[in-house]
Amino acid sequence: MATEQSEAGTTDPIIVRARDDFRWESVPVLAYKETGRHFRNITRQILFDGDPALPVQWRYFEIADGGHSTLERHDHLHVVMIIRGVGQALVGDRVLDVGLHDVVRIPAMTWHQFRATAGAPLGFLCVVHIERDRPILPDDAAIAELRANPRVAEFIRL
Ligand code: MN
Repeated sequence: MATEQSEAGTTDPIIVRARDDFRWESVPVLAYKETGRHFRNITRQILFDGDPALPVQWRYFEIADGGHSTLERHDHLHVVMIIRGVGQALVGDRVLDVGLHDVVRIPAMTWHQFRATAGAPLGFLCVVHIERDRPILPDDAAIAELRANPRVAEFIRL
């Protein structure tokens, strides 16, 4: 099973100091994904890059006004907490309004996509296991199936 390598390269700090505007000291603001084009206007910061005793990566993503994450699914779980702004999330066949401090659990092999509401960014913390499978993008059959639901069809961005 393919896994994604971590890349923050931090030296296990005891504290990662917050700066203004949802940035953290010594934490680079990274591209959301290195490849692909099925997303728009997102940054990623790795706040915790895993430890043998706690093999998770804890990230902060921020979707700019009008942007969206990749429509994807995978075996690994996400748990997300919104900490900036408001937006919407597709989880399976549900389109959810999400706001400050909501916690969203994204089960295995469930289509998901986040969108920032027009006019403001959407920022969220997301926990994933260090060892995880690569996301799957929808093929034509999956897109047709998703679009069979009008609310989903209106929401998704490819
Ligand atoms: Mn995902």
